[in-house]
Amino acid sequence: MQQVVLAARPIGEPKLSDFRLESRPMPTPGPGQLLIRTVWLSLDPYMRGRMDEGKSYAAAVAIGMPMEGGCVGEVITSNNPLFAVGDFVENRFGWRSHTLSDGKGVRKLDADIAPLSTAIGVLGMPGFTAYIGLHTHGMPQKGETIVVGAATGAVGSLVGQLAKIQGLRTVGVAGGKEKCDYALKVLGFDACLDHRSTADAAALSSKIGAECPNGVDIYFENTGGKTFDAVLPLINVHGRIPLCGMISLYNSGAPPAEPADRFSNFPKVWRTLLVNRINVRGFIITDHYDQFPKFIDDVAPLIQKGKILYKESITIGLEKAPQAFIQLLRGENFGKQLVSVSEDPTRY
Ligand code: NDP
Repeated sequence: MQQVVLAARPIGEPKLSDFRLESRPMPTPGPGQLLIRTVWLSLDPYMRGRMDEGKSYAAAVAIGMPMEGGCVGEVITSNNPLFAVGDFVENRFGWRSHTLSDGKGVRKLDADIAPLSTAIGVLGMPGFTAYIGLHTHGMPQKGETIVVGAATGAVGSLVGQLAKIQGLRTVGVAGGKEKCDYALKVLGFDACLDHRSTADAAALSSKIGAECPNGVDIYFENTGGKTFDAVLPLINVHGRIPLCGMISLYNSGAPPAEPADRFSNFPKVWRTLLVNRINVRGFIITDHYDQFPKFIDDVAPLIQKGKILYKESITIGLEKAPQAFIQLLRGENFGKQLVSVSEDPTRY
């Protein structure tokens, strides 16, 4: 079997040499265990945080250990009565071609409900993040305006579509004309602004403001940086910010040690939040899994009816995962980033 391990902690943007592909003997399942062949591996922005040491909501990956990651796999040996050979399953098996599991926390999948890859995409962790972030933390009301960062990505694309179904005006921010066109023509956003071709936050703010004649009620924060600076002045009194992620900062390493540098913009931001009574809700999706069945019940039928669309960016081969991950952090992926680790027999 093969696995990709963390070879070194990156400084700034990860390099290929921060990862190492290793070959290991195929593991043999013991009593109660399963041997699983990985079919799909999900690449997600949070993995950058796992490469760094330091306090966070989850432990860092140790040097020499396989990178973490959500996967879809097929059971190829089972010593566990709850699973049969040929079952398709989902869990955090990591950047590995094969893995052993005791079955705890492993979710069985039904390829008749939706393609298997969606279990780590629109019907998996990223989709669930969009659903919880929008409904629980965004508290949307019909007729309001939402701005969504990384609007064509795994999370942002579902936020925009769910908000549109609920009757909101949806304004996306994405990188490049192709992504903005897709947001408008396929995902149904009312407007989409290109942050990469816009010189600075002030210019981006003017463009977003022009598309939000009634101001911004919800800013779905996926990126931080220029997009945050552009949207903050536009947020209405009693607006909400589901604080989901800040991908523009993930490669920047640890914050400066000096409080003066670290918080130079802080008084201005803090004051804006206060005077506008803006509700900022940081959330981590793992706190919400009690609502996962309801998410599937609500969103799977919308996908089956074609009312929710999704896009995948597929890289073939586990050995290519590091390069694909580096590209994701640069915004070069277009849609949910997957690695095809081995053949998906249900896919044509
Ligand atoms: P995406 O599939 O959207 O991929 C990342 C995208 O981020 C890129 O395609 C790019 O889109 C954008 N991006 C990259 N660099 C920058 C930058 N410097 N400035 C602005 N945008 C940038 O990722 P996901 O949809 O999976 O994740 C979106 C966010 O949600 C991330 O911040 C992630 O960490 C967060 N998240 C949080 C969770 C939680 O529990 N709180 C759970 C899951 C995700 P573009 O080219 O359009 O700029």
